[in-house]
Order: sequence, then C-alpha cells, then structure tokens
Amino acid sequence: MSKADAPLQRVIEQTPGEPQYHQALEDVMDTVLPYADEHPDYKRQNLIERLLVPDRSIQFRVTWMDDEGEVQINNGWRGQHNNAIGPYKGGLRFHPAVNLDTFKFLAFEQTFKNALTGLPMGGGKGGADFNPKGKSDAEIMRFCQAFMTELHHYIGPDQDIPAGDIGVGSTEIGYLFGTYKKITQLHQGALTGKNPAFGGSCVRTEATGHGCVYFLQAVLEHQGVQLEDQRCALSGAGNVALHTAEKLLQCGARVISFSDSGGCLINADGFSQKQLQQIQQTKTRHGGSLGDLKLEGTEYREDAKPWEAEYDIAIPAATQNEIEEVDARHIIDSGARFLCEAANMPTTQQAMSQLREKNLCVIPAKAANAGGVAVSGLERAQNAQRLSWSYKKVDQCLQEIMGDIHRICVDYGGGGDQVDYIKGANLGAFVRVADATLAHGCY
Ligand code: NDP
Repeated sequence: MSKADAPLQRVIEQTPGEPQYHQALEDVMDTVLPYADEHPDYKRQNLIERLLVPDRSIQFRVTWMDDEGEVQINNGWRGQHNNAIGPYKGGLRFHPAVNLDTFKFLAFEQTFKNALTGLPMGGGKGGADFNPKGKSDAEIMRFCQAFMTELHHYIGPDQDIPAGDIGVGSTEIGYLFGTYKKITQLHQGALTGKNPAFGGSCVRTEATGHGCVYFLQAVLEHQGVQLEDQRCALSGAGNVALHTAEKLLQCGARVISFSDSGGCLINADGFSQKQLQQIQQTKTRHGGSLGDLKLEGTEYREDAKPWEAEYDIAIPAATQNEIEEVDARHIIDSGARFLCEAANMPTTQQAMSQLREKNLCVIPAKAANAGGVAVSGLERAQNAQRLSWSYKKVDQCLQEIMGDIHRICVDYGGGGDQVDYIKGANLGAFVRVADATLAHGCY
C-alpha cells in the first residue's frame, strides 16, 4: 500500500460488506490519488478521507398496508454524501435488491456528477427495498405516503432534494410530493421530477436520455465521427433507455436493441419510430415485458443481454455492474469503438480493464448521464423564481451544460483526439468538490 492509498484502504477496512461502495471509491481514486499527490493543496486537512466518508447515512422503517389489509414492512434509506457545493441532490430508487451499500455508492457518484454540471448541488441518493412490480396503484400510493412520512424529516429545498430513479417515475414523485405538502404545509421545491402541472420542469422526464445523446454527439464530433447511421446497442427499457433511443432516432442513428429483466429484444436493422412507441407503451408503468412484444423484424432472446449483436456504440442503460467480463468480450468482438454509460456504474472493474486495454473509448456515467440531475437543478431554479421556463429554453440549457461537461472532460482528460473521459470526469469533478470542501475549513 502506498502512502497515497492509505486513506482509501482505511475506509475500505472500516466498511466491510460494501463492495459497490468500495468499487465506486476505487474507480474515482484511481485517477484522483496520483493527481492529489502532485498537488500539495489537496493533501492538506485530510481532504481525501473526508471526501471518501459520507456526511451521513439515514435508515428508517417504512410500514404500510397492502390491498389485503396486511401490514408490510420495508427498509428506507437516504445517503447524504457531501454538500460542499450545494444541498444534497440525487434520486430515489425502489427495487428489492437495494441496501445501504447501493445508496452509499450512488450518493458518492452523485457528488462528483453534480459537481460536473456547474450547478450548486451536493450529492445524495436514497430509496427503499420495495418492489413496485406486481403492486396495485393504491399499494404504490400507500407505500410512497409511508416512505415520505419518514423521509420528510431529512429533506427540504435548501437541505436535500430527492428525485426519481429506478422504480420511481413521475407517478411516484406525485404521491411523494403530495405527502410532503400535506405534512409540511409547504409547496416548495423539495423534490424534482414533478409533473409540470405543479412545479415540474419541461424536459426533466427525457433529460437523462437526451443529455446522454448530446454528450455522445460531442464526443463523436471531437473525434470527427458522425452520429448519423451509427448502430447503437442499448440495454434497459426504462426511462433512460427509452429517451436515449428517442433522441438517437431523432439524430438519424440506429437503435438495434433493448433489454429488461426478462431478456433482450434485437432489431438488427434498427427499431423504427413506431416500434419505439410500442415499446414505450408496453414498458411504461410497472409490469410489461419486452417478451410480450411481437414486432416485425425483431428477435426476442430470453435471459440474454444485447451485447452479442453487431453495433458501433454500446450504451448500457439498465443498472450497475450489468457489463461483466463476458459482456466486455462480446463488446470488443462486435467491433464497437465507444461505450457510453447511461446507467450508473454499469461496468464491473474486470470488464472495464478489458475494454480499456483494447482502447475502447469509455464515456463514464458521471458525465454521460448528468443531464437528468442538470435539469433537476434547473427545476430548482424555476421553483425558486416561481417561474416555468419553456421546453426550448430548458433544452437549450441542457445542451449547453452537456457541452460544458464535455469541455471539462477534454481539459482534464488529456486533450487531443485521445481524451481519457474517465480521468477527465473524475478530475474535473474532484477539483470542484475538493476546492469547495477546503474553503469550508475543518467542518
Ligand atoms: P427504470 O426503472 O425506468 O428502468 C430500468 C430498466 O433497467 C428497466 O427496463 C429494467 O427492467 C432494467 N433493469 C433494472 N435492473 C435490472 C437488472 N438487474 N437486470 C436486467 N435489467 C434490469 O430506471 P431508469 O431508466 O430511470 O434508470 C436506469 C439507470 O440510469 C440506473 O442506473 C439509474 O441509476 C440511472 N440514472 C437514471 C436517471 C433518471 O433520471 N431516471 C438519472 C441518472 C442515472 P424491467 O423493466 O424488467 O424492470
């Protein structure tokens, strides 16, 4: 262990049983520690260790009643990682496989991602081990009400502002916001991703997917490559995947796959606009499966991932660690030149090493999917101003923010036509969070 590594190793030893959190820390520290070593300012005041340890992790019980009148109990969490730049900000995830480790890794990632947007937002993340699949609308509403009854103690427009993520879309945000208002008697921007009818922002629903394509366009342009006609393999069939596909089709690219927890759907010639709409209709709200769809020219592969197809750009948009070593080999064999991470930390460390060894251009999630939280930041601004901006204005701001993030990645990632986007995003974000943290003194 080198001296520079010591704080990282200490934090890892102190947090056994949190492999995803360790993975996220190691991924960032891989580039940050050598940089900090050369910049004595960043070695002052135990800064690295302060950035590795979350401000706090909150856990609470969520008690609710199902349609049969049975009392059900779930665990809820809110991870508040760092608020040096602004109030904690990050989504809520409802999924049976989450635990404290999940939210610690996501809140850490969120801190760095939010810093890249240039907006005053710190990093947080939360949710519950509640499975919305197979639940009635009434059950989901009662769960959201019970969840917010606990969560409201820890959030507020200048304290911590949650939004959606896996399993939490605009319907759930509506139920959560309704409960927040009822308890606090305040109609204020304590949540983002709201319906524009009561304080939400235009473009927020599509922002993560559209922003991802704006970023991808900037990367390709930097390398003199056109997005038009590129074959893109997507995983996932939720908010991020479907809006990424929507923007890719608008840009003339071809989308050749989607996937969900049951399998993947391939159309080697590319899905049409009409087919995308059919997929959207099936997948919107919990329950529909890609396997139910009978679309011309498509092939459904049960229990399979989409990476064995032929394509130019891989875009994982489902969940963490979905790209394992075997998938990395398929991506390399497909001849793809780019991997654009739309989901958070979708690539295992072993898979990432293989992809980087083959010089694949990897666009990290904290840059590629920052568009969602960026528009959440714009939603906060609109709520504070008591204004609603037009679609055109918000979309323009989103494009500018994604362009700015690209410039940061180029500046810190080596410039030229061999930009290291992982290094660029990590260092660009680190400098902002570190400078703000140091300016606060020992706090
Ligand atoms: P959704 O819940 O809308 O969709 C998730 C999709 O991924 C679904 O199609 C789901 O399948 C699939 N999926 C989830 N887990 C698995 C799994 N273990 N194996 C296979 N498929 C899986 O979530 P989002 O689209 O909102 O989020 C996707 C990713 O993007 C996440 O990593 C999230 O953190 C990240 N992200 C989301 C943002 C947002 O604004 N929503 C912002 C920034 C990042 P099924 O339909 O069968 O459940």
